[in-house]
Amino acid sequence: MNPALLQISGLKSRYGGIVALKGVDLEVRPGELVSVIGANGAGKTTLLKSILGLVDREAGSLTFEGVDISKMAPLDIVRRGIALVPEGRQVFGPMTVEENLAMGGYLVSRNAQRRRERFEAVYTLFPVLKQRASQLAETLSGGEQQMLAVGRALMGDPKLLLVDELSLGLAPIVVHELYRKLMALHRGGMTIVIVEQNARLALHASDRVYVLSTGTVVLEGKASELMENETVRKAYLG
Ligand code: ATP
Repeated sequence: MNPALLQISGLKSRYGGIVALKGVDLEVRPGELVSVIGANGAGKTTLLKSILGLVDREAGSLTFEGVDISKMAPLDIVRRGIALVPEGRQVFGPMTVEENLAMGGYLVSRNAQRRRERFEAVYTLFPVLKQRASQLAETLSGGEQQMLAVGRALMGDPKLLLVDELSLGLAPIVVHELYRKLMALHRGGMTIVIVEQNARLALHASDRVYVLSTGTVVLEGKASELMENETVRKAYLG
């Protein structure tokens, strides 16, 4: 079996007095699409932010390609090849689509040819972003903004893409289209971790799934197995 691309063990994170992760173990192997499901406040966003060093990691080990990233600053972690599509998209509204994408590429490569290639790759995946290249991000529809947020993360050609609530606030048809794109990336070899409140979506898209509840992994397994699991069906699939 391939060694893990990302290996997390005993991860504890807190916000002041609030312990949000209580010792999480999780691994992601190259090329996998792993999802983390759980109710509101389970710690899903905190997990992604902790991987990037955006939240204080109190204890535990985190390695990426075998390198300890548990004490690294977010910028260094991004430069190693981890990119985040944040919850709520967080595109830069008063900037154009092209400028938003440029922001995503700029930290990772200043090589003009390389950046052109990344623009091309993102525009191939999301042709609508090319059509809207000079439009302000705040004037895009919610679905287009989500595409832009994914595109911005892809500009750095990451080895691991972290996606926080892709489906949030979007119509089912738009969500379906976004997931189709994510699956295409996955088929192309991209390693992806998604966190989703919509467990049905996540289970259908993923290879493996972790179920998080109040900061603890309570279940994990192949998506196909968890879909048959009685607890998962009752608690998350209605
Ligand atoms: P949601 O789907 O609602 O975003 P989640 O599973 O992503 O939920 P987190 O946002 O990671 O959950 O929150 C985990 C816990 O940490 C919750 O109890 C939440 O109230 C708390 N928390 C999150 N962000 C902060 C913060 N900035 N300051 C204090 N507590 C926080």
